Amino acid sequence: MKIPETIRINGIDFAIEQTQNLNDGDHVLYGQVHYGHSTIEINAQYQKHQAMCVTLWHEILHALCKIHSVHLGEHEEAIVDILAYGIYQVLQDNGRELFDIAD
Ligand SMILES: [Zn+2]
Repeated sequence: MKIPETIRINGIDFAIEQTQNLNDGDHVLYGQVHYGHSTIEINAQYQKHQAMCVTLWHEILHALCKIHSVHLGEHEEAIVDILAYGIYQVLQDNGRELFDIAD
């Protein structure tokens, strides 16, 4: 999987920025969505490529939940993580069977 410069989510183009030293002031963040600025930041300092791909899916799923007012409650982070790892793995391992990808 590639990490593109932009990704369209529900009709909105989100810029993807690979950021060094991403944090909330107290903790390291691996990813963060800025809805008003339509930006997804991915922490490129503490993650290798595969982890950044999973983080991108994690943030996409957060964005979908927010846009569609899906409230997952106290388990949101765990649910989003399970789905992010699962989607990444299925697409990564089956991309050629699912999409018309040229060699
Ligand atoms: Zn999260």
